[in-house]
Amino acid sequence: MTSIEKITKNVYLEPHPTARERCMASIPFSAGDIILSSPSFVDVLLPAEKGQRCDNCHRFLGSGSLKRCTGCASFFYCDQACQGVHWKSGHRKICKLYNTYISSPSFQALEEHKKMDALLLSNLVAYLSCVDPTEWHVSTPIFTFRSLLQSPMNGSSPPVCPKHLFTGDFVDELYSRFENNNFSIHSHFNTYAHGIFPAASRLFNHSCMPNAAVKFSIQAHEPVKMEIVALRSISQGDEICIPYLDPALIQTRTSIFELTYGFTCSCPSCQVVRDVGTVPEPPEDSEEFRNICTRLREFAKGTGQSPLFTGNSSKFPINLACVLHESFITSLSDKFSQASHDGPYDIAMEASDTLLALYWLIYPPNYPQIGLHLVERAKASWNHIVRSNSTDAARVAELKSTLSSAQKGLTVIEPEGDVHDGPMEDLQTLLEGVKGL
Ligand SMILES: [Zn+2]
Ligand SMILES: [Zn+2]
Ligand SMILES: [Zn+2]
Repeated sequence: MTSIEKITKNVYLEPHPTARERCMASIPFSAGDIILSSPSFVDVLLPAEKGQRCDNCHRFLGSGSLKRCTGCASFFYCDQACQGVHWKSGHRKICKLYNTYISSPSFQALEEHKKMDALLLSNLVAYLSCVDPTEWHVSTPIFTFRSLLQSPMNGSSPPVCPKHLFTGDFVDELYSRFENNNFSIHSHFNTYAHGIFPAASRLFNHSCMPNAAVKFSIQAHEPVKMEIVALRSISQGDEICIPYLDPALIQTRTSIFELTYGFTCSCPSCQVVRDVGTVPEPPEDSEEFRNICTRLREFAKGTGQSPLFTGNSSKFPINLACVLHESFITSLSDKFSQASHDGPYDIAMEASDTLLALYWLIYPPNYPQIGLHLVERAKASWNHIVRSNSTDAARVAELKSTLSSAQKGLTVIEPEGDVHDGPMEDLQTLLEGVKGL
């Protein structure tokens, strides 16, 4: 029995024609079901989060509310319990050397994401040095991590703290699994840390139209947990896939998969994108741009499932190819956020309608971005109703329908991350607010 088989009875691995293996559902799942829950093996907070969150359990308490490690004054904890756990699991090896390490020229010369890798690698090395090697056996996360595929981008490892706990070759071997296996850890889908979750890395293949997604659960005094959540109904025997990247990265994702992960994505969305060929830039002329937006909205309204979901290229109108350009989504998001703050309201709603049509095209149903946008749209509608002091029945009905769709989608993926300040809280406030209209 491998370590994976012991992790969960919900899934099993079977051979895959091109990838290493594929992860299949042992039982049926409904949208919102948690397929796998896996605690962080090693993690590191983004620099902006230091002093805001507990370095052990990641609870957000805000600056001034955490206890500072007296050894290095650079790590922060809820209380002694979290500090004790972190100390035993590796901080005791890093504490006295940490400040010299992060101010060293070799660390400072690294690009920002490499600094995160270097810190994560340091935490991993420190952790491993605290564990008796006789315990690196088959049923442990260490074993699972070392069984992961190495990245084709096999550069040498960045400087670690402390040095010389292990040989350079061993540290390079650990580092070779970083590029294609580590995860961004998020709260309400905003990244706040990076981490290693060996079981999830070992189990799930990628799809740009995934049937499952990654979310995180933060509990006091516990390591942060990754949860793999079903986005839609999954039958027994279906492969479970998660997105390694935001599916909206339509142009760049192919080369990232090839260079970093060493595979060619065969999902339905990538098949259609390949059939479309070179994606043209969206028109610069504002009238032409608006025409494209109108055509996209009409297309989304008139079709049941997205052709990128079904992989049916013949159903994708080639004159809409430019909406697959990554700059199209950026222009629309900018237009929406600008108009939702400064008006005009109609332009904000039009941009939102087009964004939702685009999301329908490129994301699977219940993908987090859809629910998150619906909440932003509802906020814009609410602000407009309040500011204009108008209780126009059509606008109120539109707001209620947006809130109901947001609630339906977000219930599948929330709660996620911090207890407070999430989209569900905003949604509740808005639901209370509309009762008074
Ligand atoms: Zn804590
Ligand atoms: Zn310390
Ligand atoms: Zn794909």
